[in-house]
Parts: sequence; structure tokens; C-alpha cells
Amino acid sequence: MFLQVQDIHTYYGLSHILFGVSLEMNAGECVCLMGRNGAGKTTTFRSIMGLTSPRSGAILFKGQPVHKQPPFKVAHFGIGFVPEERAIFPTLTVWENLDVAHKLGTDGNSKWTLERVYDFFPRLAERRNQLGGTLSGGEQQMLTIARTLMGNPELLLLDEPSEGLAPLIVETIGKLVAQIKQEGITVLLAEQNTYFALDLSDRVYIIDDGQIQYSGTTKEVRENRDIIRKYMGVH
Ligand code: ATP
Repeated sequence: MFLQVQDIHTYYGLSHILFGVSLEMNAGECVCLMGRNGAGKTTTFRSIMGLTSPRSGAILFKGQPVHKQPPFKVAHFGIGFVPEERAIFPTLTVWENLDVAHKLGTDGNSKWTLERVYDFFPRLAERRNQLGGTLSGGEQQMLTIARTLMGNPELLLLDEPSEGLAPLIVETIGKLVAQIKQEGITVLLAEQNTYFALDLSDRVYIIDDGQIQYSGTTKEVRENRDIIRKYMGVH
């Protein structure tokens, strides 16, 4: 198994947020953690990255326990995190943002070079000398994803990449995620945009109130309107 999250309980101070979350992923899959605002998606990602370590339970990446590791070690194992808040350096240019994020993959190779990233994101190539802070929201989202790819991850955690973007940009981001998957990168996607999530994923976990409420294939979720209505508030 590529990623195993086993019965994790995560807290912010005294607030108990995740109540026994478990999920599993095979290499090469795109799995979506779907849930509305405040359901616990970001907290699950923060738990996996070691940013907010679970108080109990285990997280195994390629069989190796990572739940007691600090974030830089988790990144070193091959997990890349694209946070929802688009953490780019606003006063660095696009290429500087990419350059500082460069890191070899766990196998010592560098599949993602600057040239390759520019091929993949032509918009960023056009804007290579522009300051990060002056990019549009969609371009900043692309740069955040591109920066994480420069770290040559094997597993990509994408936290709500469609958030706050215009429909046309959401479509572009969706195509990019599909291409990333085709490159053989395993993707765990957090989304509350049901249709975006279902278009991209092989399997779905639905989280609500810090617990996994449902898991199934994308096809099963599509056919189960009640589940979508109940947990996502979409009709
Ligand atoms: P969103 O779309 O809002 O990011 P989410 O599913 O990612 O939703 P989380 O960010 O994981 O949800 O939040 C889960 C719960 O944890 C929410 O009730 C939220 O209010 C709470 N929470 C998040 N961050 C903190 C924090 N730093 N301290 C205390 N509670 C927090």
C-alpha cells in the first residue's frame, strides 16, 4: 500500500478535530477527500505532512511510519503539499519561486526541472520574470502547484485547488491535475467542489465532522445522489 492513514485523532490545542480518520491509497491513484467547509480536509493533510501531528493512530508512506516525523522529513520521504492558501513568495519572481523549491526526488533524480515545469505551465514561462505577488489568482495557484512539483514528489497533496477561481481557470487547473496524474504522480485531492473532484478522481472519501462518512469509487458516488446531497449540500 502506498499511503495508509490509520485511525488518526488530531487536535488543535484542546479542540479534538479528527476522530479516527482512516484512508488508503495505491500508487498512481487520484483519490479525493471530499467534504464541506470545516469538515477536516486540511487537518487531515496537515496530519499527513507532520504540520499538526496526530495524537494517536498511524500514517505509513510506502510502509514507513511518518506520523512522528517533522514536515521537512515527510517532504524528504517524497510527499509534496500544495496548501489552500497559495504559499508563494510575493517578492520573488516566478523563476526564483521555482528555483528555491527545487529538490531531488527520493531516487536521486530530478524529473521536474525548470524547463519541464515551463513546458507544463506555459503561462508561468511567459511570466517567468514577473513578481509572484503580481500574478492573478489562477496563476498563483499554478505557481504553487509548480513549486511543489519542483520538489519531485511521489505523492501530491492538493488542498482545494479550485477554491476562489473563475470557472475557466478551474477547468485549466483540472486539466493540469489530470496531466500530473498521467505523469505517474499519486494525487490526494481535497475538494468541496463536487463536480471538479468527481471528474478527476478514481475513488472518493467523504469526510464530515472529522470522520470519514463514506468511501467508494467515483462511479458509486455519482450514482448516489443522496450521499452528495447529505454531505456536500449539492442537489
Ligand atoms: P476548509 O474548506 O474550511 O479548509 P476543511 O475541511 O479543510 O475546510 P479544516 O480546516 O480541517 O476543514 O478544519 C476542521 C475544523 O478544525 C474546523 O471546525 C475548524 O474550525 C477547526 N480548526 C481549523 N484550524 C484550527 C486552529 N488552528 N485552531 C482551532 N481549530 C481549528
